[in-house]
Amino acid sequence: MSAYRAVKGTRDIFPEEIAAWKHIENVIGGVAELYGFQEIRTPVFEYTDLFRRGIGAATDIVGKEMFSFEPDPGGRSITLRPEMTAGVMRAFLQKNLHAAAPVHKLYYIAELFRKERPQAGRQRQFAQFGAELLGASSPEAVAEVIGLMMQVFSTLGVKGLKLRINTLGDMDDRVRYRDALKAYLVQYAADLDEPSRERLEKNPLRILDSKNPAVQDIVADGPKLRDYLKQGALDDFEQVLRYLDERGVSCSVDPLLVRGLDYYCHTAFEVASPELGAQDALGGGGRYDGLARQLGSKTDIPAAGFAVGMERLLIVMEKQGLLRHIGEKGPRVYVVLQDRELVSRAVTLCNSLRSAGISAEMDLCARSMKAQMREANRMHADFALFVGEAEIRSGLFGLKNLRTSGQEELDMKAVIARLCRKPDETESSAPC
Ligand code: AMP
Repeated sequence: MSAYRAVKGTRDIFPEEIAAWKHIENVIGGVAELYGFQEIRTPVFEYTDLFRRGIGAATDIVGKEMFSFEPDPGGRSITLRPEMTAGVMRAFLQKNLHAAAPVHKLYYIAELFRKERPQAGRQRQFAQFGAELLGASSPEAVAEVIGLMMQVFSTLGVKGLKLRINTLGDMDDRVRYRDALKAYLVQYAADLDEPSRERLEKNPLRILDSKNPAVQDIVADGPKLRDYLKQGALDDFEQVLRYLDERGVSCSVDPLLVRGLDYYCHTAFEVASPELGAQDALGGGGRYDGLARQLGSKTDIPAAGFAVGMERLLIVMEKQGLLRHIGEKGPRVYVVLQDRELVSRAVTLCNSLRSAGISAEMDLCARSMKAQMREANRMHADFALFVGEAEIRSGLFGLKNLRTSGQEELDMKAVIARLCRKPDETESSAPC
């Protein structure tokens, strides 16, 4: 064992998990395509100011969780991206995509970095998939984004998710409400817990999110966001709810739901799974009309998007037994050499099998036949194909089914036909 360990809060993804990742990635890509969303990839680091301006200096992410550094002495600070929305909007504005078409639909699967205390479901490097709809934030656009997210879950077979939704009103509504909430909570500052007291100054809306029952009691008697919203915001929200209902997406309105980032306005939503325990948030998103101007755009770019944690999605899928048969492919064959002189024949046979689309491997360490059989079993090969002088001479090879131990003597054409056949197909079925 090496003296080196993966950095705390990071993890390796080994081959046995890769099939699940690829499966989810393929489903995301497929569903995104159905909705006309195209993939975008942005750099892993950006200038730190982008996140300060975009996400907001008072948020937890920017205040405490960014991995920032100066690439050159005295140079401009850069930060490993803690989320994707700011970077996608930066790329969109930089390329002036808005001039090319009024609406752009983009999705991503990306690695993110946050300096959080590592615990179950909380890493310092993790991945999210998400989508950003740029150029429209009408109720139908918001419902489209939520519909896309929920369709990815349903295509993957994930069940039991809870979608909560709320409206935060426009920036002006939020500022008025924030001030009223702060004025109310200041009176109870001594009764709040430490994190809420900290938020009181910087980001009082986040106190609504508190899971502490004592804080929840105080909040329950405070001013209600709904009372500070203009009629237009309420009407807009009603329409979002109606469009979701029409799509068959069920959700519950949670008046205390606020998202941790500054840029959200109007609709905000969060999806959670009881399978996740304490860190039950699987993803979330909302509308962020103000972000483009915040990043220097001269025009308004209405927008809406979401992000979902990939590792947490995998946890949920694992618990629901959805990863069991993923990655099961055709049979794997281990070519067992009886005589070292025949290595080149074995290579040729392996290549014939691979050309026919059959996974084939052979010994690369000059091992005994017994050791080769052990290796075939260790790697869970389905068949062993025996290659010796007699087989080469007769053209008939022993094909042993390692599950049933049954063995047949077949020429290579018949071997390929045999292995291409699905297990439930009959003798007369056509080969692949
Ligand atoms: P956020 O961007 O904070 O709204 O997070 C969206 C989703 O990303 C969460 O619901 C989680 O599923 C996932 N996520 C956020 N932070 C982490 C983390 N530190 N480790 C693993 N997943 C995370």
